[in-house]
Amino acid sequence: MTIVELEGVTKEYPGVAALKGVDLRIERGELAAIVGPSGSGKSTLLHMIGTLDRPTRGVVRIAGHEVGRLNDRELSALRAKHVGFVFQQFHLADGVSALDNVADGLLYSGVPLKERRERARAALERVGLGGRVRHRPHELSGGERQRVAIARAVVGEPELLLADEPTGNLDTAAGGGVLELLGELHAGGTTVVVITHDMEIAAWAPRRVRVRDGLIVERVVAS
Ligand code: ADP
Ligand code: MG
Repeated sequence: MTIVELEGVTKEYPGVAALKGVDLRIERGELAAIVGPSGSGKSTLLHMIGTLDRPTRGVVRIAGHEVGRLNDRELSALRAKHVGFVFQQFHLADGVSALDNVADGLLYSGVPLKERRERARAALERVGLGGRVRHRPHELSGGERQRVAIARAVVGEPELLLADEPTGNLDTAAGGGVLELLGELHAGGTTVVVITHDMEIAAWAPRRVRVRDGLIVERVVAS
């Protein structure tokens, strides 16, 4: 089953064509890397796939829903239900425990606070941070912060996990741990799309989509 479908997607910012007509399908259960140099349009593509932004032209379908036919409220609901995000800069709330940072991932789900915290605790255990639930971001290492961010992204059990340069702020060892965790989530059934400019990380993924100047220039599926 197709979870992501882009047809002829363009995205223009004033004076910049960031995407110039992208066709892309991602099937449920895939682990794909979108790779390309800085400025090639990777983050813009992630915004399109994650419905954080609308294309200038073209069609985006997520889990069968055509994004262009949904209003902003419906789009937020679609996103909350289907998509989890991880970013290079972690985007955790300062001064807030790991537990509550993760519980916030369920803020728009209608789940009561007590259950949000229970599920957050389980998600932190899943990423190997069961012993860090009370720690605040500044009390955690970079790798641990990114694990908290991943726990927050998956606490609502989204089918699709999108990660934009998730290892970009980490040393090699911590980055390797984050990739291992993404691999485990994929093995557990989550569709994972990792954006990277790092060819080594791209080589780790079974499927690679190469982006250059706003266009997909190569698709490689590992045999
Ligand atoms: P990448 O993630 O591959 O580094 P981006 O998708 O962030 O690339 O950017 C692609 C191009 O679009 C770049 O030239 C960038 O400057 C431009 N761009 C990205 N976001 C915006 C924006 N919000 N406003 C204007 N230009 C943008
Ligand atoms: Mg980027």
